[in-house]
Amino acid sequence: MTVRDLIILGSSSQQPTRRRNHGAYLLRWNEEGLLFDPGEGTQRQFIYANVAPPTVNRIFVSHFHGDHCLGLGSMLMRLNLDKVTHPIHCYYPASGKKYFDRLRYGTIYHETIQVIEHPISEEGLVHDDGKFQIEAFWLKHGVDNLGYRIKEPDVRKYEKEKLDAFGVKGPLVRELSQKGKLTIDGKEVTLDDVSHVRIGDVFAIVIDTLPCAGALKTAKGAKMLICEATYTEEHRDLAKDYRHMTAKQAATIAKEAGVQHLILTHFSARYLDLRGHLEEARAIFPHTDVAEDLKIFEFPR
Ligand SMILES: [Zn+2]
Ligand SMILES: [Zn+2]
Repeated sequence: MTVRDLIILGSSSQQPTRRRNHGAYLLRWNEEGLLFDPGEGTQRQFIYANVAPPTVNRIFVSHFHGDHCLGLGSMLMRLNLDKVTHPIHCYYPASGKKYFDRLRYGTIYHETIQVIEHPISEEGLVHDDGKFQIEAFWLKHGVDNLGYRIKEPDVRKYEKEKLDAFGVKGPLVRELSQKGKLTIDGKEVTLDDVSHVRIGDVFAIVIDTLPCAGALKTAKGAKMLICEATYTEEHRDLAKDYRHMTAKQAATIAKEAGVQHLILTHFSARYLDLRGHLEEARAIFPHTDVAEDLKIFEFPR
């Protein structure tokens, strides 16, 4: 298996701090480089992270508040400068098309890259090439905002000892996979007798929302969920007023969605120290970490 990890390029909310850049998250997933919510300064964060910008082949914008997209134009310009030959797919809420265009064409440059836009107006499946799927679900933030879910297909895995025990070999394996069952030496063998289904890995990102059904749908069964926790419970009122979440609320979503690893991010500048977030979330969902700029999280195997 090739590399699978999540690189935190930034972890602040609206206002960056000395330690936290505007949010941006790079998921390296086999041959794919998926960049989520490129905030201001994302291009430079790639340099600090020691990752070449042409790693990126898909860019996702959850919504068009500045901390989630101000780096989009400069990232596209950079990919253009680097003369990438692969297409760059861009996903964003369709109602934000005018902001996308302004960001894309905000400055003078000679565009040579191939940008393929995927404005999303309906939630659900937005991409499926057989190797992986992308789904998007509406979140609750007062503006059109999408949670994204990356999923690989479920795969049937044959178990050699069981195949041997049932005498299934050579072309019989394919016949069994096509028919679902076979009779060998007068004995019936089903697919489940000799194999199991490996459920495809899921990565999910939920940023800038109140707790909602869309957040749960996005996060369902994810091996890794990166979720906003702008505030702690101490500022629950602010979270509600600005349509954000507390660490406790993010942890509750992770628990209800059956997530394996939760990473909190999008922290308000008022918090210099994130121990409060961590304690609060771990009380509900123990396998929680907090994002820090340039930190790399290995995708759980
Ligand atoms: Zn934000
Ligand atoms: Zn926002």
